[in-house]
Amino acid sequence: MINASLLPASLSNKASLAGLSRREIASALLQHGIAEREIRMRVNQLWHWIYYRGVTDFDQMLNISKTLRQSLSEAYNLRLPEIVEEQVSTDGTRKWLLRLPPTNDQDKGAEIECVYIPESDRGTLCVSSQVGCTLTCSFCHTGTQKLVRNLSTSEIVGQLLVARHRLGDFPEGVRPDNGMVPSGEGVRAISNVVFMGMGEPLYNLNNVSEAVDIMADGEGLSLSKRRITVSTSGVVPEIEKLGEQCSPMLAISLHAVNDELRNKLIPLNKKYPIKDLLFACQNYPGVSNARRITFEYVMLKNINDKPEDARELVRLLKGIPAKINLIPFNPWPSAPYECSDWSTIEQFSDIVFNAGYASPVRTPRGRDIYAACGQLKSETEKLRARIRMTNT
Ligand code: SAH
Ligand code: SF4
Repeated sequence: MINASLLPASLSNKASLAGLSRREIASALLQHGIAEREIRMRVNQLWHWIYYRGVTDFDQMLNISKTLRQSLSEAYNLRLPEIVEEQVSTDGTRKWLLRLPPTNDQDKGAEIECVYIPESDRGTLCVSSQVGCTLTCSFCHTGTQKLVRNLSTSEIVGQLLVARHRLGDFPEGVRPDNGMVPSGEGVRAISNVVFMGMGEPLYNLNNVSEAVDIMADGEGLSLSKRRITVSTSGVVPEIEKLGEQCSPMLAISLHAVNDELRNKLIPLNKKYPIKDLLFACQNYPGVSNARRITFEYVMLKNINDKPEDARELVRLLKGIPAKINLIPFNPWPSAPYECSDWSTIEQFSDIVFNAGYASPVRTPRGRDIYAACGQLKSETEKLRARIRMTNT
């Protein structure tokens, strides 16, 4: 019989404990034959090593007996998504193509993208919640991708773990030397997480909620929930549930101020029109002036960028504790839109600002490596196909 622990990781079908919730780790340990009275203590030990210390080998867990470490490593591993490709933009943004551990013998491991955006006072990790997206927003490249499935909790948390390893963000970690990662005593490379990568997080609510709780757990990864933002195109019935289950910050991809246009940009609007969406926002659990909802508005030339649109936007959001984030449209090959001119964006931003909203225009980051919003995945697939073609 072949000893599974001697097989290369890609051929071993052992389950990884990295990225799991306390409940899932407990059930794995029970299955492993650990006595019920010990479970709590063992879960706490594993939790500390995996999420606080960032170890990737059972043998490093020094307060666990050698025999137990050995038997755990025969049944499980601590594998994370694998970085297949890293691209670093001239502005320091990093895009990783990640291959997920195979879920069964036939699975070759799906690929997703994850983006890291360093700024002077923070570092933001943009994570994916699905492989691809079932929605077909007309301005978004991810929506054109065919293969779609939900990511598991551990595949979502795995993105943060792998990024923290790569950026030297665990105790004893080393920052990459090609720079632009915030550093200094007690400074975290990753201080914020946004669910703005591939996929619609509210179509994968339970796994996303569980992942948010793991990321925010004070004994482990310890990110404040005020620094975790979930962005949705507007799956109205799930908004309240998100607030009740895990209460992260909420971002809404609004992009239009009337249903006629929003139906075209975000077809889901036909099911959940603007009025219903804003009602759900008003009632988002925990919303207040100190915990505002971010409304994202992509600037599309001659489509949604008139001064009247800006005025209507302000009118619509009256009464909702809101921030407005203007996003210059990130083009992709044969996209049916163009980005608004800079002067138009400024004029739009002035109207919003004069109405009392800070209206930051989100500087496009990592455009040179196709890492900006809505540019994820399909382009990398095409580039790799092109590289393969030129190499054969
Ligand atoms: N599905 C979720 C989260 C992922 S998309 C959502 O739609 O909110 C993250 C953000 O990128 C959304 O606000 C989305 O509208 C925006 N986006 C998508 N394509 C874009 C593009 N080409 N240019 C600029 N922003 C885009
Ligand atoms: Fe999906 Fe969001 Fe892109 Fe729409 S904008 S297709 S919901 S990822």
